[in-house]
Amino acid sequence: PAPGAPVLQVKAARKTFGGLVAVNDVSFDLHAGEILGLIGPNGAGKSTMFNLVSGVLPLTAGEVHFLGRRVDGRPSRELARAGLARTFQHVRLLPQMSVIENVAIGAHLRGQRGWVAGVLRANRVEEASLFAEAQAQLERVGLGDAALREAGSLALGQQRILEIARALACDPVLLLLDEPAAGLRHQEKQALATLLRGLRAQGVSILLVEHDMDFVMGLVDRLVVMDFGTRICEGQPEAVRQDPRVIEAYLGG
Ligand code: ADP
Ligand code: MG
Repeated sequence: PAPGAPVLQVKAARKTFGGLVAVNDVSFDLHAGEILGLIGPNGAGKSTMFNLVSGVLPLTAGEVHFLGRRVDGRPSRELARAGLARTFQHVRLLPQMSVIENVAIGAHLRGQRGWVAGVLRANRVEEASLFAEAQAQLERVGLGDAALREAGSLALGQQRILEIARALACDPVLLLLDEPAAGLRHQEKQALATLLRGLRAQGVSILLVEHDMDFVMGLVDRLVVMDFGTRICEGQPEAVRQDPRVIEAYLGG
């Protein structure tokens, strides 16, 4: 998509769990080439929104459009194939397998898009080219030297980056990240931010769900703030940080 064109449009999304309204008529757009931060205190509904957008949970009401096409109700596998890739809040690696196997297998399981598609379209899966491409993805995120290490032996920050490498294997237009900085050390957070800026420069749009306000501040182009399931504020990071509703939500929680 052209820079600035809508990649993701969420329209009056609503999700209830029994009597609990986890997401209450929330709307927002994400434009091509931007990193949009979705922030809010614990329990605000961020992960639920994330799951609605990525096709993991069905909406109670509302719509999700991706690249101009209505996609709510479509399974996440199909969304991944269309260019919408996600990671999970808790790392889901295969800890006893090597870093490169995690990329190769993860990519294979995630759907047929990008270089994975090229490899799988061949009559037989050519392991050598699958691994060559997985290595290229690892180089892209700066984990090239760690390819043969056990995934479980990596520091947490590197495991998060490995998760992102797996998602990149599907050549996403939009990358959804749920709290990728949670639990990371300061330097790991900086490495992650540098990686995300680099991906943005390569044209990947990013929806970053984050609790940590400091992490998103220097990184995102725009912020949407949720509290108790509703969208309470939207705008430039500095303006949002000073908004009384946002301060109240973070301090009052
Ligand atoms: P956040 O990610 O912002 O911390 P969540 O989306 O995880 O918030 O949760 C929003 C609200 O919805 C919370 O009150 C949470 O307890 C509730 N919730 C989330 N998932 C479920 C579920 N599967 N069943 C019932 N309640 C849920
Ligand atoms: Mg969450």
